Amino acid sequence: MSIKVKLYMSYLAMAIVPVFLLMLFMMFLFFTGNEQDYREFRNAQKNESLNQAILFGELTYVLREDPAQMEDPAYVSGMQQRLSEQWAGFLLTKDSKLMDVSSFLEEQSPDEDWQNIVDEGRQTLFLKLYQFKSKHIAFQFEDGSEGAVWLYYRSDPVPIFWHPLSLAAGMAFIILTSLLLTYFVSRSIIRPIRTLRAAALKIKEGDLTHELHLEKQAAKKKQNEIEQLSAAFEEMRIRLKHSIEQSLQYEDNRKQLLSHISHDLKTPISAIKGYVEGILDGIANTEEKRLRYMQTIYRKASDMDQLIDELFLFSKLDLHRVVYDFKTVDIARYLEYWLDEQRFEMEKAGVKLVFQDTEGGALQAAVDPDKLYRVFTNILNNSVKYMLQDGITREHQVTVRVSREADFAKIEIEDTGPGIDADDLPYIFDGFYRAEQSRNSETGGSGLGLAIVKQIAEGHGGTVWAENRADGGARFCLKLPLTSDNQGGETA
Ligand code: ADP
Repeated sequence: MSIKVKLYMSYLAMAIVPVFLLMLFMMFLFFTGNEQDYREFRNAQKNESLNQAILFGELTYVLREDPAQMEDPAYVSGMQQRLSEQWAGFLLTKDSKLMDVSSFLEEQSPDEDWQNIVDEGRQTLFLKLYQFKSKHIAFQFEDGSEGAVWLYYRSDPVPIFWHPLSLAAGMAFIILTSLLLTYFVSRSIIRPIRTLRAAALKIKEGDLTHELHLEKQAAKKKQNEIEQLSAAFEEMRIRLKHSIEQSLQYEDNRKQLLSHISHDLKTPISAIKGYVEGILDGIANTEEKRLRYMQTIYRKASDMDQLIDELFLFSKLDLHRVVYDFKTVDIARYLEYWLDEQRFEMEKAGVKLVFQDTEGGALQAAVDPDKLYRVFTNILNNSVKYMLQDGITREHQVTVRVSREADFAKIEIEDTGPGIDADDLPYIFDGFYRAEQSRNSETGGSGLGLAIVKQIAEGHGGTVWAENRADGGARFCLKLPLTSDNQGGETA
């Protein structure tokens, strides 16, 4: 249940429950102290004051019009009797002397000094826990003496303790309900917040391993706000942990890469220095030796140049500092031109290049031709490098296939080399992950080739991935988004 609903319910309960409890309590009191039927009681209560008023009217009339009646004991006792049925009775005085006391009033308080009450002219009486109010009616007896009637009537049908008791009980029920509701509602809010706070403190202290145990809710919708917050917090912790681990890994890889690069730059530099010293010291004493030394120096310098180029490009791509110069290009034609350029070199290396255009039509895509050239060349150079590396002399072939997949042009480059180790497959595009593996003296790779490929592919809004062919060899797939107007545009 959401916290909002819980709060609404508790406010509602706060209003209803104490009233309900109070009603129950009062009914309990009523039934334990009174055998009367409740409906009867309500009716009697309603009629009591009305009947009292009628009798009072009658008495007032008699006192004014026919005071002699008050000296008739039969009338007086009759009236007292009728009044007693309405919880009332009077004290009759003649010249301030008490002449008659209502037997009903006497019953209520047998030891009362009624004369004293009359003398004091008491307005209110408390008899057997009921409050009685008074009406004083003065009249004149026939003989001219001063008469007075002190009419006492029950002003409230419930005992005097009833109102303070109901007030106290009401307060007690309100306090009890609010305490219970606060306890139960806050328990469901405060407890998870405390857990969350403890988890946040752990993170503050740098402990990202502390798992937040969430009560699994089948549906996300059923989670309340705090459960949703806890779930989001736990997700944040997991992501934070992952990203810290990843950045530590990256940091580690960068350090390793830096150390390998400095090593790789140091090796040709040392070699260049050695050959230059050889020339300077006259060790290369023949023209032929000098030429060989110079050629080696040139090759080493070129290797270094290429490594520095790749590093520079990779770091620019990594920092998103590369500006793309997009042109609308027919991908199939573009690949044909590119393959034609490569063909001579490949044939020299003993690799056959095959092109398959399964679409046969124009697949226009917005690309930066120079950057894309780098992508295909990196992939092709890898294929050649790893095909020739396995040392088996057989016919090597690289097939380049272009097709359409929904709104993308799909380019596949597959070779007949050794394929990629399944364990390496997920990482080969992460330059830093596989740098060490990819850097070995035989292949002489910088380990950045595919990382550059990935960065450029993504810079085009495309994707790249690698897989192994069923019959051996690696396949690199690149998907580039087609332009919305696939027919028009400038062709490179
Ligand atoms: P490198 O400069 O070491 O070739 P790359 O980033 O170009 O670095 O490639 C990363 C790794 O992917 C390589 O070290 C190699 O293990 C693997 N790889 C790339 N292309 C191929 C391929 N055609 N056949 C087999 N393995 C490949």
